[in-house]
Amino acid sequence: MEYIFKTLAEPFRIKMVEPIKGTTLAHRKEALHIAGNNPFLLDSKDVYIDLLTDSGTGAMSQKQWAGMIMADESYAGARSWLKLEQVVKDLTGMPYVLPTHQGRAAERILYGILGGPDKVFLSNTHFDTTRANIEYTGATALDLMPDDLTEQTLFIPFKGNMDLRKLEYQLANQANKQVAAVILTVTNNSSGGQPVSMENAKAVRVLCNRFGVMMVLDGCRIAENAYFIHHREEGYQHKSYRDIAHEMLSLADAFIMSAKKDGMVNMGGLLCMKDQELSLKCINQLIISEGFTTYGGLSGRDMEAMAIGLQEVFDEDYLHYRIRSTAYLGEKLKEMGVPVVWPIGGHAVYIDAARLFPNIPIDEYPGQVLVCELYKIGGIRCVEVGSMMFGKYDTNGQLIPAAQELVRLAIPRRVYTQSHIDFVLEAFDYILKMRDNTSGYQIVYEPPFLRHFTTRLKKL
Ligand SMILES: *Cc1c(COP(=O)(O)O)cnc(C)c1O
Repeated sequence: MEYIFKTLAEPFRIKMVEPIKGTTLAHRKEALHIAGNNPFLLDSKDVYIDLLTDSGTGAMSQKQWAGMIMADESYAGARSWLKLEQVVKDLTGMPYVLPTHQGRAAERILYGILGGPDKVFLSNTHFDTTRANIEYTGATALDLMPDDLTEQTLFIPFKGNMDLRKLEYQLANQANKQVAAVILTVTNNSSGGQPVSMENAKAVRVLCNRFGVMMVLDGCRIAENAYFIHHREEGYQHKSYRDIAHEMLSLADAFIMSAKKDGMVNMGGLLCMKDQELSLKCINQLIISEGFTTYGGLSGRDMEAMAIGLQEVFDEDYLHYRIRSTAYLGEKLKEMGVPVVWPIGGHAVYIDAARLFPNIPIDEYPGQVLVCELYKIGGIRCVEVGSMMFGKYDTNGQLIPAAQELVRLAIPRRVYTQSHIDFVLEAFDYILKMRDNTSGYQIVYEPPFLRHFTTRLKKL
């Protein structure tokens, strides 16, 4: 379809509805208090519009639901597995495909084998579960972002790119540690959902070859990334989204995917690779912890839905709607004067809470202030991606802040309509009015790993 209308109508119509219920301000305040001011601990029934994550929260198509009924639940060699395996082999060009129950299971298996105390991993940005799985083995995870990444007003087309000079430096100068792998995350989730160019991926490949290091693609948003390459990178305007994804995948030695993103399913993951010896080690771990090689923690119906989802995600109308509807929210927020990370990424809009609340000190978590206020005002749930998520402490117990204090509004796939998004925009009118009269938060409980999931906070 030509895109001559300004209104972006959803490329689907609704056949089944799930009611969502509004709540009162008093109810939301109480619910947030009980949740220790951490929206991860809220019950979903108390949430009106849930922008916590785009992971596993999408709506499946009629074709996926139909496929689930037709699925094969055999323990070994199920028809649904063979279908998924073929779809993934065709897409990735990798001969060894392991199903896992989600992305982090694939990470635990691969990085558990590649990691260890004398190892270092290099990435454009390690996603939080990636970092946790690497650090859990005693290895070090280094993020190699370009320094201009925090520049939030310039249009940089591929802001998710790996900094190639930093990568080359690290590859050449690891004196005491061995580089276990280079992980290219596309799109770059933790840095604003920003795309990685093909040129950058190719250059990473060249450096990996030169230093004899394995290249892993953490590609759970590979289709969204392909959309950006098609529209922004010279020479890709005539290639299909799927062909672009295939080309990028062909560069890597291994591919990790949380299928809860561009797999268009509510649960599932993949671990794919080219090397047989490594695949045998991974299969051992898979069987011990996930399940047999032809289901790896998934039902036949999960695999059937994933096989279909991995094809649907490359549909032109879907991807256009997906990327444009996310940009719609971000562009409107920018017009209102909300400091957003620019340009808008694929799956989410990121807001710079430090600039939105300049009066809140970093160690009082300005991002958490925005998260809590959005919930109180509109029942909107989102997540802080700043010092609450990534902060560390020095030996004196002082916070070492994250690079940026961002808040992520993630958009579930095919779930909310434009009027839901307009509702979110209206909530920001209230945020802008109250921004000078609010206070920060203090952490009162935190676990040692992935603290944002279960941390509890107190309002100051
Ligand atoms: C979601 C995600 C993961 C982890 O996948 P899960 O399915 O949540 O375990 C890994 N890497 C990236 C970039 C992700 O976005």
